[in-house]
Amino acid sequence: MCCGQHLHQPMAEPLAFRKLNQKVSNNKVMTIIYPSPIFGPVHSRRLGVSLGINLMPGDGKLCTFDCIYCECGFNDDFRPRQPRPTREEVRSALEARLQQMKQEGPAPDVLTFAGNGEPTAHPHFPEIIADTLALRDRYFPAAKVSVLSNSTFIHRPAVFEALKQIDNNILKLDTVDEAYIHRLDRPTGRYSVRAVIEGMKAFQGHCIIQTMFLKGCCQGVDMNNTTDTFVLPWLEAVKEIAPRQVMIYTIDRETPDHDLAKATHEELDRIAAKVREAGLDVSVSY
Ligand code: SF4
Repeated sequence: MCCGQHLHQPMAEPLAFRKLNQKVSNNKVMTIIYPSPIFGPVHSRRLGVSLGINLMPGDGKLCTFDCIYCECGFNDDFRPRQPRPTREEVRSALEARLQQMKQEGPAPDVLTFAGNGEPTAHPHFPEIIADTLALRDRYFPAAKVSVLSNSTFIHRPAVFEALKQIDNNILKLDTVDEAYIHRLDRPTGRYSVRAVIEGMKAFQGHCIIQTMFLKGCCQGVDMNNTTDTFVLPWLEAVKEIAPRQVMIYTIDRETPDHDLAKATHEELDRIAAKVREAGLDVSVSY
């Protein structure tokens, strides 16, 4: 995730952003493929000045989910040909950018793993996190390290341990309805929402749950997950997980499927109120 479309709002669009226009499902969409391995800094509504770290190649998108709202487009339409950046390529590019920011500014508030796919899918994700924490401590010790993840690899012990080391462990849980997950997030491999919830609980509060609420249709099927049919079972799972915070948001930029619509302010506020009533901290991005 993860692309984190609501978190990465460019202050002024970095020249390095490569925007690709493609025909997708008969709709013309604007899709963002992030440079690799470092992009930005960009302004994040939630996180401040955020330097992006993309562990996927810079020529396409491939993820263990294929969300119908993904700002990077569908997996089949943007398959990368280049390899992922190596651990050393990430480390040296990150150090070079941090040195530059030290001399020229701005100071980053956060180093955010996001981009064209799932960061924890990188085979050296744990080692890259160790390198990043060391570089953060050397250049900008006040900066936070955030990972936006779709949670598909939190069952791997090394990934789990790495996520425990960072400041903001932001995990996607859009719904607990298995059938809806397969329509909205479209996991590309085996996926058990119960196993994911158990994995999230194991963080013992060291996580932030991130949930997309939207409306509209996909291929003629109603995708509205703002009603209590979806919200109440999701809230029960969130209470079980007991995260440090819940982030709810809606689509922000153009999505691959044009029949999707934003959840309204009122709908998001209603859901946020229920989260607060449950005693949990919640943030809302409209
Ligand atoms: S497909 Fe979903 S999980 Fe993967 S990068 Fe896109 S929005 Fe994030």
